[in-house]
Amino acid sequence: MKLTINKNSAKWMQLPRDVLVGHGVLEEIGDVCRDLKLKGNALIVTGSTTKNIAGKRVGNLLESAGCCSAETVLTCKATKEEVEKVMEKALEVEATFLLGVGSGRSIDLAKLASTRLELPFISVPTAASHDGIASSRASIVDNGISTSAQAQAPIAVIADTEIISAAPFRFLAAGCGDIISNYTAVLDWEFASRLRNEYFGAYAAALSRMAARVIIDCADSIKPEHETSARLVVKALVSNGVAMSIAGSSRPASGSEHMFSHALDKIAPKPALHGEQCGVGTIMMMYLHGGNWQEIREALKKIGAPVTAEELGIEDKYIIEALLHAHSIRPERYTILGSGLNPSAAEKVAKITKVIN
Ligand SMILES: [Zn+2]
Repeated sequence: MKLTINKNSAKWMQLPRDVLVGHGVLEEIGDVCRDLKLKGNALIVTGSTTKNIAGKRVGNLLESAGCCSAETVLTCKATKEEVEKVMEKALEVEATFLLGVGSGRSIDLAKLASTRLELPFISVPTAASHDGIASSRASIVDNGISTSAQAQAPIAVIADTEIISAAPFRFLAAGCGDIISNYTAVLDWEFASRLRNEYFGAYAAALSRMAARVIIDCADSIKPEHETSARLVVKALVSNGVAMSIAGSSRPASGSEHMFSHALDKIAPKPALHGEQCGVGTIMMMYLHGGNWQEIREALKKIGAPVTAEELGIEDKYIIEALLHAHSIRPERYTILGSGLNPSAAEKVAKITKVIN
């Protein structure tokens, strides 16, 4: 699916149509289906834990709202094989639309499977740990390598803050890291526009910066079990999806700090959450950009997101290795990392920013 027709003139921006954020909005799912004229058989893509948190409830609500049937497919990993499994199940039950109910993996799988089957899909996040809940990008493991794939945006996002605020706080803090990373993503985008004459979208960049600013300014008030915190973070994550749709790429929300996180996913024996790694990456990439990395570090600390290798639970040597390999993760994406850091520069950035000792 190619959404951008011509980067300089006409654009095709695909956005969610119904976005519900708030306490108990899960109960509105039947109304959302009616509003979107979604009838027939629903397929709920969920995990074993998230099934009990929301998956079962979604199924009951859909059936009582008049869907012919609501079948469930349980998933464990976001791999190419699992996408195929979801597609097979969707064909078997003659699904007319899909729902991804979970923290990330289930949403990515429903997103990719529904895109391939040309069916609509609804995103029902049970945690707010990354901006994939509302975007048209999906993370998927193909042959052991984690890649980001283009897919469709959800037709609706139902983010129940009662459920999201009950998830472990670590997820919400990671979501903040994913949003704060917009700062270095936009700096990288500007850099590529100056050095490579790459298309730069001022509006998408401004929207992306604004979401990061709001999270940094509100860092003091983002607290566990506060539904207002969940509401704020979810809105910023939805806004990130919108910024990417307007840009026609993930540029406004993904730069060198994301490449560092993807490198860690590949290298570290036990990677941390995507948003946690992106947050730490933002501190270091901001230093490389000559920006205010201390502000980023302080905000993440206040929120309770990791700011060091130790807090990520990753050994120092993997941080250095990821810094050395990050530029090669997406060579076509020009960033401050250029053609790569040398080992002494990598060690210097990690030490100065206190990521390693
Ligand atoms: Zn991200």
